[in-house]
Parts: sequence; structure tokens; C-alpha cells
Amino acid sequence: MSDLHVLSVVPEIYPIVKTGGLADVAGALPLALQAEGVRTTSLIPAYPAVRAALAQPAAEYVQPDLFGGPVRLLRGTVSGLDILAIDAPHLYDRPGNPYVGPDGRDWGDNALRFAALARVGADVATGAVPGLHPDILHAHDWQAGLAPAYLAYRGGPRPGTVITVHNLAFQGQFPADLLSTLGLPPESYNLGGVEYYGSIGYLKAGIALADRITTVSPTYAAEIATAAGGMGMDGLLRIRSHALFGILNGIDETVWNPETDPHLAAPFSLARLHRRATNKRALQIRLGLVPDANALLLGVVSRFTWQKGLDLLLAALPHLLGLDIQLAMLGAGDRALEEGFLAAAAAHPGRVGVVRGYDEPLAHQIQAGADALLVPSRFEPCGLTQLCALRYGALPVVARVGGLADTVIDANEAALAAGTGTGVQFAPPTQEMLEAAILRLAALWVDQPTWRKLQRTAMKSDVSWRRPAARYAALYRALRDERRT
Ligand code: ADP
Repeated sequence: MSDLHVLSVVPEIYPIVKTGGLADVAGALPLALQAEGVRTTSLIPAYPAVRAALAQPAAEYVQPDLFGGPVRLLRGTVSGLDILAIDAPHLYDRPGNPYVGPDGRDWGDNALRFAALARVGADVATGAVPGLHPDILHAHDWQAGLAPAYLAYRGGPRPGTVITVHNLAFQGQFPADLLSTLGLPPESYNLGGVEYYGSIGYLKAGIALADRITTVSPTYAAEIATAAGGMGMDGLLRIRSHALFGILNGIDETVWNPETDPHLAAPFSLARLHRRATNKRALQIRLGLVPDANALLLGVVSRFTWQKGLDLLLAALPHLLGLDIQLAMLGAGDRALEEGFLAAAAAHPGRVGVVRGYDEPLAHQIQAGADALLVPSRFEPCGLTQLCALRYGALPVVARVGGLADTVIDANEAALAAGTGTGVQFAPPTQEMLEAAILRLAALWVDQPTWRKLQRTAMKSDVSWRRPAARYAALYRALRDERRT
């Protein structure tokens, strides 16, 4: 039985619409929270994919005009998730990526599209749907950032508000002259409100006005309150530090389960770790690498962007190829990085294999077949790939930033003695330190008994949603109780 009801306001949710880790969290957290006695309703724009997923939706609450057209709310259940979808064809009836049009640019009316999400969120939070009275409105990222602002400026009774920052790099800044169109009062345009460097800042508004702010790891919570990591928001985050919490993400242990994974050549487990060799060989063959069991096979599954530090890896590659290593890469993004790695694969056939694109099965096969997974990010709010790697026994080699610092235990001398190591960390994120980390990894590889011990410890890491869900539940309850008194 649930004693607490959360309205989660999200722009994407797995398994219906996904462009990044936010969708994974939005889809997994409600299910994990059930065990904590928390019920969640997820409010999302009714993009075509959402309408298609809701087989026979019930229509709740209608508004004749919001930002140039009518709005209906559709309700239904998808994969165990209680979904409320905002059916507003003038805003959301567009196929493909939720944020970007066919020309590859952000939709010109994104300010209105996501203000509508927040505004309907505020309506639902204050009783617009009969029988639905949330204790907490939980807004995710800039797309939902105005919801706490609408509630704050409306006055009157309201539920507690939480905003989660999944990546501070995306802030949602729009022209100040939209203020009245958005239905925000003139007094909201100030330092403590929605004003942000002469514009309206959607994420800024959420951070300024939500009762609690969370982000997706304790280290990232500390980093974003510094000038170096704050991306213009650090001053405000320091002022609000008493309300800022870091809660790690988990991964879906049914999707990421090496024992039952349908994508693997040979499903495996701690008890049957020897079967991993079959996956390594299958991966080597798939990527055109020499099928050599003794070569240290490094994997990468990543967006190819500056954030992910893959330029450091590209620069380090000539030095690393002096070692007996191979590289299996999957990803897409910046053209220069894609071309750089494809050229490296052409120059070093059998040693470097690159697949450009998004490929879920191959992502699983890399985690299951690679000996180690490289994540040299310059910043990383939480990171999910290293969690998958831990569970699949690919030792993560990570930059010591954000959630990477919080989830991988460096196999230094003390950790080796104590048997607690699960991977390799390096800092700062530079080419030299990445090279040094891979040298250290190669030394561990030579010592196979130690390697196996690290691998087993990694696979026993708790990367589930259980602990994070308990922390969110505690945060929600404390906030609800505080608002009652
Ligand atoms: P971010 O959200 O910053 O891209 P995360 O590590 O938090 O990075 O999450 C990325 C998720 O997307 C992981 O689950 C990863 O396996 C998956 N992923 C990334 N790139 C690809 C790809 N090219 N093909 C398949 N899955 C990918």
C-alpha cells in the first residue's frame, strides 16, 4: 500500500520515448518506489509515440486554449507506469526526437512546449484531475523546471516540490519578453525567481523555487556548487546548498542481467564466469578484431562528445597501441571524433573496431565481452555505462568526476589489500592520466588471479535502484511532513 503520491513531470520516459539517461530514470524510479510505499503518476507530453503507447486512454480534464490550441489529458498504463499524457497537437504532434526538428535544430517553440508541460503539471498538482491529489510534484530537468515556479507564484495550497538536475549543461534559456505569454507575473522576473542572465531560465527557476533540489550523484552535487563545475548556476546552488542532495541512479537489473541477457552469445554469472570468454571472442569477431583471448580488450559505449572525453582517448591511442590491447567502440556524435576513430580502425585493423550508431544489443555485447570499459568523461552527473560494466564484469576505467567517482572503487594498493577494488580511477581527465590509468590496468591484467578478484568484486556491486529509491522516498516523506506542520 502506498501512503505517498508523487506527480513526476518528465519530457521523456523509458520505454516510450528516450533520448538519454533521464528517460531511464523516469521509467525505472516509479517502479522501484513501489517497494517504498510511494505511488507515482508520470506526466509527459503526448508525442505520437506516447499516444500510440496508450491503447485506450481515458480523457481527464480539458483546457480550451493553452499557448494557441486545446489541451486534453489522456490517462493509461504502459509497462506498469501510470501515465498522464498532455494531448496538445499544436505543441506535441510531431514525430521523431522530442526536442529537435527534421532540420536538426531545436523546435522554435520549445519555450512554449515545455512551459505547457510545467503549467499542466502545476494544474494537476493542485487538483485539476478529480481524485488525483499528489503530495509531491517532482520536476525533471529544464523541461519541467517552470513547474515549481508556476506553483510558487500562484499562491494557495500546493504540494511540496522537488527538481532533479540530470545534467546542468542543459539549462533551457528563453527570451525575457515571453514572460506574460507564459503566464508568469512580472514579479517573478528577478534574481530569486525566473530571471537568468537577462533571460528566462527554466532550470534556474526550478533550482531557485523548488523546495528540494536533487542531482544524480553526491560528487556531482558538490561539483555543481563550485565555479569550475557550476556552469553559471553555482552561486545560486551555494545559496540553496541546504536543499541540495545527491542521489545516485541505478540500472534496471532485469534489462541488464548477464544470466538472462538475450543479446549475449553466452549468458554468464559469477558462478559461470568462464563463459565470458565466449562473449569476448564473439565481440572480437563482430568488430573485426583478432580473436585473441590474451589481448586486453577495452570497450567504449558512449555519445561521442567533449563531455565524454573521447578526444583524450583518440589522442592517447598511438601510445596505447604499443601495448597488447584492443579497442571495441560503439557510439555516435561529433563528426570529428567519429571520423578520427573510424580512421584509427582503418589504420589498425584487428586492433581497433568501431561501430558508429546506436545499437542496444551491441551495447550489451560490449559490456559482456570487453575486459574493461573506458569512461574518460570531463564531467559526468552519474553515468550509467559504468554501472552496467560493473554488473557485467568489465572493469570500469573512469575519470574521477561526478557519479564515476562515487560508483567505482579504485584498485589502489589499499583496495587491493582489502579486496574492495572494482576498477581504475584517474584524475585529472587528461590524455596523460588516461594513458597512465590504462598502463595500470594492463599491469593488473597480467596478474590474472588479481584481475579475477576485481571482476568478482565488481559484479557484486549494488547497482540496483533499491538504495536510491529508499533515499528518494525518505526525501519525499520529510518534505511532505515539513509542509504539513
Ligand atoms: P548519457 O546519458 O550522458 O549519454 P549515461 O552513461 O548516463 O550517459 O547513459 C547512457 C546510456 O545510453 C547507457 O545505458 C548506454 O549503454 C546507452 N548508450 C549510449 N550510447 C549508446 C549507443 N551508441 N548504442 C546503444 N546504447 C548506448
